Amino acid sequence: MIRVGHGFDAHRLVEGRALVLGGVVVPFERGALGHSDADVVAHAIADALLGAAALGDLGDRFPDTDPRWEGANSMDLLTSCAVAVRAAGFDIANVDATVVVERPKLAPFITRMRENTARSLALALDCVSIKAKSSEGMGYTGDGRGIAAYAVASVVPRAPR
Ligand code: MG
Repeated sequence: MIRVGHGFDAHRLVEGRALVLGGVVVPFERGALGHSDADVVAHAIADALLGAAALGDLGDRFPDTDPRWEGANSMDLLTSCAVAVRAAGFDIANVDATVVVERPKLAPFITRMRENTARSLALALDCVSIKAKSSEGMGYTGDGRGIAAYAVASVVPRAPR
């Protein structure tokens, strides 16, 4: 039976930080504030994967109070979550994420974000979908205060349960 997990993440956008999304440094005058590189795409997908396997969440594994994860590359954290999901007896079927932000426009970067994510998860490119939406000027993603991402992941137990 297929199992599904859901993930969400949001970070403030501030000056003096790089904007890293799906492992791509996106040129922009502000970046996401966080303990790690604050990659909302990686974090939402990681939580979706962990959720599908009922393995807790990203914050359990990589607490933002732990100096080891300061400035961490979130694609490495994502790989570590995929390893944990597989070690728990699941194959990863697919992931699908939506980034919500008004600016910058992300279309030119989506393919690279998918490629990086697929590599980090050891999945085929056609098993990784990433989309970008604006919130039409509404709320913290619309007025530029922040960026958010939602993701779902499906996994299949290797042996019947
Ligand atoms: Mg995060």
